[in-house]
Amino acid sequence: MVRPRKYRFVGTEPEVLYFKPRAIPLRDLEEVKLNLEEFEAVRLKDQEGMSQEQCAKKMKISRPTFQRILQSARKKIADFLVNGKALRIEGGTCIVNARKFRCLKCGHVWNQGRGKGRPRACPKCGSDNIKSEHKIVNKL
Ligand SMILES: [Zn+2]
Repeated sequence: MVRPRKYRFVGTEPEVLYFKPRAIPLRDLEEVKLNLEEFEAVRLKDQEGMSQEQCAKKMKISRPTFQRILQSARKKIADFLVNGKALRIEGGTCIVNARKFRCLKCGHVWNQGRGKGRPRACPKCGSDNIKSEHKIVNKL
């Protein structure tokens, strides 16, 4: 019996999903696949500088699980950098905080453009009673 995997929580959807070395055709490249949990682990620990306890709490997982995901992510990123491969960010078993928002007052739903951060109010009615939408990812 395969134990069902628990959903991990990913606070931010990545802005860029694919990286490749310049001037090498894709067909000649080997690809490294980083899942969304691995991306989130590196983002929280290495980019935001949080402690492992804080990261594990944010992702709603245990500290040993966080440690395992982080190590796997760092290993893949090192492989991508050192060996000049392409990197694809995709899949995982997680609930992702998407770049999509819903106004709880008028029901308007919109996509927040990349690099714009969290909106303060509904662009339609101006209410600040807004909620981000979640996306469930279950793809290995
Ligand atoms: Zn509204």
